[in-house]
Amino acid sequence: HHGWIEVVVGPMYSGKSEELIRRLKRAEIAKQNVVVFKPSIDDRYCKKNVVSHNGSKIKAIDICKPQDIYKYINEDTQVIGVDEVQFFEEEIVGIIRDLADKGMRIIAAGLDMDFRGEPFGPTPKLMAIAEFVDKLSAVCMTCGNPAHRTQRLINGKPAKYSDPIVLIGATESYEARCRLHHEVPRD
Ligand code: ADP
Repeated sequence: HHGWIEVVVGPMYSGKSEELIRRLKRAEIAKQNVVVFKPSIDDRYCKKNVVSHNGSKIKAIDICKPQDIYKYINEDTQVIGVDEVQFFEEEIVGIIRDLADKGMRIIAAGLDMDFRGEPFGPTPKLMAIAEFVDKLSAVCMTCGNPAHRTQRLINGKPAKYSDPIVLIGATESYEARCRLHHEVPRD
């Protein structure tokens, strides 16, 4: 018996969390032993759940580092979900590979690109070693075409390429955008 890796990527609002939750709930209904993780920095809605933008949710364990996964699983664990995988250290790639080698089914969801359109953290490597990759799209907020990018807006204006990830005192928001309408000014 061998395991495998499934990766679900796309921009914000593309339904990654929804899809992750859907797959995990089906596994639970089939009496599989499921454990779900997310990075503790992402407390968008609730610390103990993975929650999608449309409101579906599933119980999840907040962890700080990839190694913490081993504390919460055992020989009976069959399916492991990981949301917001882009926020984990590179080390998560080797750990997910190890878990699949040991016979588990891993489903990881996360952003493939950051707001600049650059490959995001460990996601690209995970996509390379996965058996299954699904690249989802959202709807471009400007034109309605399929959106594969995440537009970062700071006080309503496109964030610059050089802007820091965390800006103190600014109101930031995100929109799904297509290639044409994704703007990243360089200075
Ligand atoms: P992700 O995890 O990829 O950010 P979620 O699963 O949390 O996505 O949310 C997907 C939901 O976001 C959609 O079902 C829809 O209700 C909502 N949504 C908001 N804005 C958009 C958009 N521009 N395009 C598509 N869906 C959107």
